[in-house]
Amino acid sequence: MGAYVRPRELRAALEVLAGRDCQVMAGGTDIFPARAHAAAWGAPREADWLDITGIEGLRGISREEGGWRIGAATSWAALRDAGLPRGFDALREAARQVGGRQVQARATIGGNLCNASPAADGVPPLMMLDAEMELASLRGTRRLRLEEFILGNRRTARATDELLVAIHVPEAMAQSPSVFLKLGSRAHLVISIVMVAANAAGRVAVGSCSEVARLLDERGLAPIDDVRATAGYRHLAAAELVARARERLAA
Ligand SMILES: Cc1cc2nc3c(=O)[nH]c(=O)nc-3n(C[C@H](O)[C@H](O)[C@H](O)COP(=O)(O)OP(=O)(O)OC[C@H]3O[C@@H](n4cnc5c(N)ncnc54)[C@H](O)[C@@H]3O)c2cc1C
Repeated sequence: MGAYVRPRELRAALEVLAGRDCQVMAGGTDIFPARAHAAAWGAPREADWLDITGIEGLRGISREEGGWRIGAATSWAALRDAGLPRGFDALREAARQVGGRQVQARATIGGNLCNASPAADGVPPLMMLDAEMELASLRGTRRLRLEEFILGNRRTARATDELLVAIHVPEAMAQSPSVFLKLGSRAHLVISIVMVAANAAGRVAVGSCSEVARLLDERGLAPIDDVRATAGYRHLAAAELVARARERLAA
């Protein structure tokens, strides 16, 4: 294993990232299974570890001018239990369904987004909420819409010296009632085949059907075939979940 550092300050973390090849680690629930998998195939050289869970400013949910700020290292359990307005209902429901209680206690929203799995449950609700990602490095900070941040399967626009520090949600979206529906091969502890997040403002995001979740008002769906389901099944299932989500919102 490489060196392990756990700074308390953001600046110290950014200095570490600027100076060497480092693997950022939050809850570790994506990294460690991936590491075990790599080890089984003869793991390549290991980078050093930068554990960001000691940086208090990366945790928690707060109001800010024009909306809400979610620290990147906020756990799913904190999101699940926070008393947030109805616009966050879809995100709260996703939080309730990510893994089991142990995973929810440990895993973070930022890790889910930076891992950029096509089946990441955090992506459709935050896309629906028109969320922006705040990235920081010693060079400064920048903000990207979620659609600009996730580029493909496990690919993001994050540079190697950047940390995702927060997710910003505009107030207008935070107030619009929302729902989240997830279809898997069973009810719990499952990777999604299709998921849908929709709100009363008419925004609908569909995940697990393409490399990156999509807003339906921007582009049509072009579902993928994989071991979990065929493209044809996904097409039908997505249409059904969107219809159910709209029915719930109407009710
Ligand atoms: C049993 C089990 C069940 C699961 N069920 C689900 C599920 O139902 N739905 C689902 O979507 N996921 C699921 N997951 C996957 C995982 O739990 C989530 O994706 C989780 O949110 C990852 O967060 P983490 O903090 O553990 O990320 P980590 O594993 O710590 O990191 C993931 C990636 O993000 C990077 N990273 C983390 N934080 C930052 C940051 N702030 N800035 C820059 N890079 C960062 C890391 O370098 C790494 O590449 C499951 C995992 C397990 C083990």
